[in-house]
Amino acid sequence: MALNYKEIKGKIICKTGLRIGGKENTIEIGGVDNPIIRNPIDDFPYIPGSTLKGKMRFLLEHASGKVDPNGKVHSCCDSDCLICKVFGKNADAKNIPNEIEVGRVIFRDAFLTEKSKEELKELAQKTGYKYVERKTENVINRKSGTAEHPRDMERVPAGAEFEFSIMIRLFDGDNEKEIIDFVNKGLELLQKDSIGGSGSRGYGKIEIHID
Ligand SMILES: [Zn+2]
Repeated sequence: MALNYKEIKGKIICKTGLRIGGKENTIEIGGVDNPIIRNPIDDFPYIPGSTLKGKMRFLLEHASGKVDPNGKVHSCCDSDCLICKVFGKNADAKNIPNEIEVGRVIFRDAFLTEKSKEELKELAQKTGYKYVERKTENVINRKSGTAEHPRDMERVPAGAEFEFSIMIRLFDGDNEKEIIDFVNKGLELLQKDSIGGSGSRGYGKIEIHID
């Protein structure tokens, strides 16, 4: 069986601060309450492929009216279900003759462009915070109207740019246009919505430029 690949690649531009949570390291001196995920090799923030894939699937499930009533990840054995075809099939699909169970998309981790790395290095020299902004958030006391419980949130600052790549597997019999259109629809939805945490509070608005 023949297998071909198509790539959709380009840039993800942060229009607002982006926060994809990482692991807290309480031992670190000057450690922040809410760190973001970073590449352990060079400490630069990145966007995991799993973040992009998960959010795109979530949005496409809603847009396709295929939300599981129990809130689980959608999964069915329908041979023309694009969600299952593109993102991966239910194990029960094994019973369907000639059905390819593996998903058609591979989301690579998205790393900062060299230009953004340089800009964030300059920012770090000014602020002392390596490659992020620290944003303080608080809760407004409902009686006094004053701010309480301040906490520091790390964010990738607005303006940062990441290079992304989505590889699309095309097996014999796959409708290339249908699959690529579906992924492009997912990219549209990501831009209308948000990625990472606190999207309802302005975080994670992105613009996607396809090469
Ligand atoms: Zn399905």
